Amino acid sequence: MEHGDCNSTSDCDDSLHELYTFLDGELTEEKRSTIEQHIDDCSPCLEAFDFEAELRTVIARRCHDEVPETLRRRIADSLGLSEGP
Ligand SMILES: [Zn+2]
Repeated sequence: MEHGDCNSTSDCDDSLHELYTFLDGELTEEKRSTIEQHIDDCSPCLEAFDFEAELRTVIARRCHDEVPETLRRRIADSLGLSEGP
């Protein structure tokens, strides 16, 4: 694992799990600020957060449109899913 800027990887795991709740707007103020602080200091988590946030914005905007193949692949890759031919 490459977490050079992190003091503890379990901190990262926690943050990434909470990230989904964060994006759904269901976190308490306290937890939110904890995660925001961690994301500020940790680039791997920041990247994950940026991607998730971007993803949700795109999906929200395009919910009635077709999702482009490139984006679908990017999502599938990031989720560890692979679409067969
Ligand atoms: Zn982290």
